[in-house]
Amino acid sequence: MTSPAYDDNNIFAKILKGEIPSYRVYEDEHTIAFMDVMPQSPGHTLVMPKSPSRNIFDADPAALQHAITVVQKIAVAVQEAFDADGVYIAQFNEPSAGQTVFHLHFHVIPRLEGVALKPHSGKMEDGAVLAENAKKIIDALNG
Ligand code: AMP
Repeated sequence: MTSPAYDDNNIFAKILKGEIPSYRVYEDEHTIAFMDVMPQSPGHTLVMPKSPSRNIFDADPAALQHAITVVQKIAVAVQEAFDADGVYIAQFNEPSAGQTVFHLHFHVIPRLEGVALKPHSGKMEDGAVLAENAKKIIDALNG
C-alpha cells in the first residue's frame, strides 16, 4: 500500500504554524513538545519534528534521530514531574495502526503501577489542568 501525501492543513501543522493554540513544554530548532489535549494519563506529552512528514514511512531520518533524543529528554522530565513508575512511548503509523493525526509524533505517557490508561483520543482535559501539567514538565526540564 502507498501512503497518502502529507496534508499541510492537519491539526499539528496548524499548531506548528501557530494557527491553533497548544500547551508547549519544549521547543528547539527541529522539534516541539506539547500536551496531548485528551491525555491517557496526567502528563501525556507529544513530541514532533517540525519538518513535515505524515509518519515514519516518509520521515527524514535526521529529523527522526533528533526527535528520539527529545523523546528521551521529555520522558526523563515527565517521569520526574509525575513521579511515574514508568513511561510508555508510542508512535502510530496509518489508521490501521491507530494513527489519527497525520503529522509524525511520539506519545510520551507517564505510568503508575496498577493504574490503567484512559482511552486513546478519549476525553478532552480541562485547559487549567493541562497548563498546570505543562508547568510541572517545564520545571522538571529546567531543574
Ligand atoms: P495519534 O492517534 O497517534 O495520531 O494521536 C493523536 C493524538 O493527538 C491523540 O492522542 C489526541 O488526543 C491528540 N490531539 C488531537 N488534537 C490535539 C490538539 N489540538 N492538541 C493536542 N493534542 C491533540
